[in-house]
Amino acid sequence: MGQGREGEGRFAGPGLGRWLGEAVGGLAFPGDCLVCDGPTGDRLAPVCPECRGELLDASGPSCPRCALPVGPYAGCGWCAGRPLGFDRAVALGPYQGPIRHLCLRLKRREGAWIAPGMADLLVEARGEEIRGLGASAVVPVPLHWRKRWRRRYDQAEALAACLADRLGLPVARPLRRVRATEALWRLGRAERRRLLRGAFRADPRRLGGLPGRPVLLVDDILTTGATCGAAARALKAAGVGPVAVVVLGRAE
Ligand SMILES: [Zn+2]
Ligand SMILES: [Zn+2]
Repeated sequence: MGQGREGEGRFAGPGLGRWLGEAVGGLAFPGDCLVCDGPTGDRLAPVCPECRGELLDASGPSCPRCALPVGPYAGCGWCAGRPLGFDRAVALGPYQGPIRHLCLRLKRREGAWIAPGMADLLVEARGEEIRGLGASAVVPVPLHWRKRWRRRYDQAEALAACLADRLGLPVARPLRRVRATEALWRLGRAERRRLLRGAFRADPRRLGGLPGRPVLLVDDILTTGATCGAAARALKAAGVGPVAVVVLGRAE
């Protein structure tokens, strides 16, 4: 297990060291698997070895462009001919069963302690694919500042910082969510896209050496692709790319 779990230093993210510390300190029954309640054998592992094996098995072949599961010879019926905004997408697996359950835990501040374990799973399941993208930095999809301030937590930020740590890459935060977009799930696809257009801006002062280089854009879940697509378009408008989306769960 990594030694950087407690330190703000190694996860030089805003608040992450504190989130992890608080969340670990608040664990009621440390060492219980979040999926099956069995013993994990490691206080900071979110799942037991059996569930870990099942999670890794669930990460089967997927569409390289949108990360939906696909058969070995079938093309992707969902994203073919559909503009997405990003170039590639990698998911731990489908947003269902244990992955959905773990995503819901990570969404809450008390669940921040599973971020390192989820980053480990992602790297174990998809590390070759992710490293093959040759990214120069990890970029979290940001929440609107008001929402982040209210929740005092951001699961995409937590996941991105842990993933960057595991991959030995820097975290870059050039994106600003300039428009609050609440309750997108209630809307249709066209309406979502309309609302999200211009929802993100890349801050030129925070771009550093990113223009012209590939990046990993990290969020917890990829559903219609509208949010990640809008964030990717903002990066590309600033000259950053190619953009590969990395998520835990791919929902249909
Ligand atoms: Zn288990
Ligand atoms: Zn696809």
